[in-house]
Amino acid sequence: MKKHNFSAGPSILPQEVLLKASESIMDYNNSGLSLIEISHRSKDFVDIMEKARALAIELLGLEGKGYKALFLQGGASNQFLMVAMNLLEKRAGYLNTGAWSTKAIKEAKMLDDIYEVASSANANFNYIPKGFDIPSDYDYFHCTSNNTIFGTQMKSFPKTDIPMVCDMSSDIFSRTIDYSQFDILYAGAQKNMGPAGTTLVVVKEDILGKVSRKIPSIMDYKKHIAAGSMFNTPPVFAVYTSMLTLEWLKGKGGIAGIEEENEKKASLMYSEIDLNPLFTGFAAKEDRSNMNATFNLTNENLKETFDTMLKEAGISAVNGHRSVGGYRASMYNALPLDSVKALVEVMSELESKA
Ligand SMILES: *Cc1c(COP(=O)(O)O)cnc(C)c1O
Repeated sequence: MKKHNFSAGPSILPQEVLLKASESIMDYNNSGLSLIEISHRSKDFVDIMEKARALAIELLGLEGKGYKALFLQGGASNQFLMVAMNLLEKRAGYLNTGAWSTKAIKEAKMLDDIYEVASSANANFNYIPKGFDIPSDYDYFHCTSNNTIFGTQMKSFPKTDIPMVCDMSSDIFSRTIDYSQFDILYAGAQKNMGPAGTTLVVVKEDILGKVSRKIPSIMDYKKHIAAGSMFNTPPVFAVYTSMLTLEWLKGKGGIAGIEEENEKKASLMYSEIDLNPLFTGFAAKEDRSNMNATFNLTNENLKETFDTMLKEAGISAVNGHRSVGGYRASMYNALPLDSVKALVEVMSELESKA
């Protein structure tokens, strides 16, 4: 039996995408060859790469606005350094909203001066700081749109004239926001787009080429853009599977279509957390993530019973991250509403038993 997969990452992908992707391993498009045994310079793969890049730009509503999409390697973690390499001249401002922001700050600090414009570390990152200033003479501002571990999400973004960079690893393609307010956005594929192994980076071209440092070729966005995202051998399977997911998303009415489903899932989940006296939410209500819901039992003695019930219902991977504890339900684009219904049912069943 297929499980209800609430994994935080790598995470659930649409069934039809998994099916098509697995077929391509044995025989890509009746070519008599596997997708992973052909040249990345073959027309077949170049077409896949171009389609994936174009779909990303189209779905984000960034067509004709000077952006380029790249499918790179090294994960979102490599972007922590790459962003700084390409944009940092003197000083940049970072919003610290969790473990991933903290890591982004640490890497950028290797290169130059980083200033934390605000942080919610004092409250174990259970909220998003607001009302901070971003100095206008900084090179860029960096934030994390969704904090996968803590279950908080930025509902709005600051206005600033300096370039804005956003780590969107765990909520890209999940909601209709104005993506053109960002100059660089990046996301590891494995949360909301595809298998691990590639990272989508969307760059506004005209912010590049302004730093005086020498940038090693593999770290240089301009080189990747000039090479059509094929500076070196790309992770062909991860890019293909991401492309299939983006096609699937387009078929669902794009981001607006999926947003409606995501809102239904999140409101069902949070209303159970709020109404069921056995559970309490971790994140501040106004900052709750529609992707990762974090919650705890109010009575730890029920943990064993609850965990057994979850297991029996085929509910997988709702354990919280070790830095938060409790539970975390990740409700990425591909998670069906029925899976959330199944989880909520177990939660209310626990209430009737207790
Ligand atoms: C998972 C995650 C990362 C790390 O991604 P890698 O691809 O493993 O480097 C970074 N930022 C956020 C917000 C994440 O959720």
